[in-house]
Amino acid sequence: MRNIFALLIFVFMPRPALIFIFGESMALLIPDLVCKTVYEIPIKYFTDKGIRLLLLDIDNTLVTYDDEYPTEENKKWFKLVADNGIDIVFISNNKEDRVKKYAEKTGYCYYAGASKPRIKYYREAMRKRKLEPNQCAAVGDQIFTDVLAAHFAGCPAVFVYPIKDKQSVFFKLKRKLEIPFLALYLHRNKK
Ligand SMILES: [Mg+2]
Repeated sequence: MRNIFALLIFVFMPRPALIFIFGESMALLIPDLVCKTVYEIPIKYFTDKGIRLLLLDIDNTLVTYDDEYPTEENKKWFKLVADNGIDIVFISNNKEDRVKKYAEKTGYCYYAGASKPRIKYYREAMRKRKLEPNQCAAVGDQIFTDVLAAHFAGCPAVFVYPIKDKQSVFFKLKRKLEIPFLALYLHRNKK
């Protein structure tokens, strides 16, 4: 009961109060860019920053949990990314067999069971390619895993809205908790 009360306070607390309480650590949870889908991310956003590697989430970022393989749209986007000299690596919290099945069809490397926001595999992917964090960008659909991990790793974090969410109570709750951070992004980027 006490947890639910704390959660309600967090969700409904005015934004300035949240910033006052959580201070700088809040910034870790605010995406650097928010787009509806990966296809709407301007490729210029990456090329202007000198990005050489995308650290990509799979589930709900590129395909739904039900899609086993990359879609034609995915493949076209990967080609656009590659044509701009940017490499790709998939970093997913999902199981090995799911991630392997998807990634193998693309020819790109992958890390499954990543336990994001843990950044072990972000670091490993960068180290293998001899890249610095500012040469990499992460793309994902969850604030508390993808965005947080990107920032822990020192990379810009692009948030895309989930394609089709799971309907579990846990997921619905998680989405509610993300709202303040998306609101802060919008507030920060208000023209
Ligand atoms: Mg995801």
